[in-house]
Amino acid sequence: MGSWSADFQEQLSGSSCMLCSEGRPEEIGSRIRFYASETADAYLHSRGIQRGYCVVIWRGRHVVEPTDLSDDEAAAFWLDMVRVSHAMQEVYRPLKMNYQILGNRIAHLHWILAPRFLDDVAPGDPLSGSGYHAFPKDEVRQDVAALREAVMQG
Ligand SMILES: [Zn+2]
Repeated sequence: MGSWSADFQEQLSGSSCMLCSEGRPEEIGSRIRFYASETADAYLHSRGIQRGYCVVIWRGRHVVEPTDLSDDEAAAFWLDMVRVSHAMQEVYRPLKMNYQILGNRIAHLHWILAPRFLDDVAPGDPLSGSGYHAFPKDEVRQDVAALREAVMQG
């Protein structure tokens, strides 16, 4: 049986939050940023279970639930997600897009966006949170460049 991470209560309170403490980096860990607004940053992951795994992170004060946002903030964060999804659809031409707000491993508010393909690793099911592998570096850089271009054109 699994367990919550040892510092999950501290994550929830914001006293130990990796997404607050990282600032707003261009690249960190396996993430490369391709979108930044006043309210959010979007990153493409260079590791995952399937190509195109992205996150849209709420920026500003520490927030856990979408219900912690004001109406204006919630609308802005929703539109950030929609802009990013438009760009992803342009670049990946998916069969379907997936949108998730989970926060079970990292409690700070973020969307997970994933394109799903006709030739998919898990047709009809959610993508697994394990079994990640590194994607080819040149492919990731090409995707980031294409996503930056697509999100600019909106
Ligand atoms: Zn935070």
